[in-house]
Amino acid sequence: MADEYQMPKGELMKGKKGIVTGVANHQSIAWGIATQLVAQGAEVALFYLPGMERRVIALADTLGIKVLAPVDVTDDASMDAGFAAVAEAFGSIDFFVHALAFAPRDQIKGSFVENSTREGFLTAMNISAYSFVDCARRANAIMPNGGSLITLTYLGSERAIPNYNTMGVAKAALEAATRYIARDLGPAGIRVNALSPGAMRTLSLAGISGGRGMLAQGRALSALKEDTSMEGVAGAALWLLSDLGRSTTGEVVHVDAGFHMMGLPDSDDAADA
Ligand code: NAD
Repeated sequence: MADEYQMPKGELMKGKKGIVTGVANHQSIAWGIATQLVAQGAEVALFYLPGMERRVIALADTLGIKVLAPVDVTDDASMDAGFAAVAEAFGSIDFFVHALAFAPRDQIKGSFVENSTREGFLTAMNISAYSFVDCARRANAIMPNGGSLITLTYLGSERAIPNYNTMGVAKAALEAATRYIARDLGPAGIRVNALSPGAMRTLSLAGISGGRGMLAQGRALSALKEDTSMEGVAGAALWLLSDLGRSTTGEVVHVDAGFHMMGLPDSDDAADA
């Protein structure tokens, strides 16, 4: 699995240690990023949702990752234990990757107005937005030499995308949180950014009603007329997490083959006008 992606090898992350959250399987964006970081010499620890151990431990093995911790971001005790395990293994860290989100299925289909419930809305906000603030506070405590945090967002924060609904609202909060965290932690030399990939074939996308359509339309309506690649997302993560990204903080970087900036779809009518 480690060889599945063509991640450039090098030493951009040599001497850097950090945490990657959100690996569920080999298609997870977190896995692509972890693969790239290891290929550039990073020492990576993985946080995974309790219950996923069998698959994640086997995957981690393919990259030689030895530090793993089951962490549910809604559970303070598991957060405490996960960060303590990394502090013990690494001493301090230089980077943190927040690549997780969740909304109940009934909150990501159909009418946003009709289907939103208080409980579903708060669950999505808690796991998908608040958790980044909580992780940033804990990461900061073991990042004495500065560093870099990234999170993963989606265009549904800026545009009303069919079915994305509550998750879009949570991503908007996540992006705003990114700027506030960047402001707070900037003086400590910690950069904080968000990547906004186009639709990619992962478990999370499968949970969204009409997820396949998001993929097909994302490709068709993109400037490059292609899918967002794992290599492209992992490459952007590498830029922001390594010293290459030293002057960039508080940004939301689109990595979506140019989908976000297109105005109207191509049409023969428009060409004739
Ligand atoms: P994924 O399903 O592989 O990853 C989501 C991860 O969230 C899983 O590993 C899951 O275990 C974890 N998670 C859920 N609830 C958790 C909790 N309470 N505590 C700890 N972990 C929890 O899917 P993915 O597409 O790789 O998603 C990663 C990130 O990328 C998400 O923030 C997602 O919104 C974002 N993103 C995905 C796409 C896409 O099209 N796939 C596009 C843009 C942004």
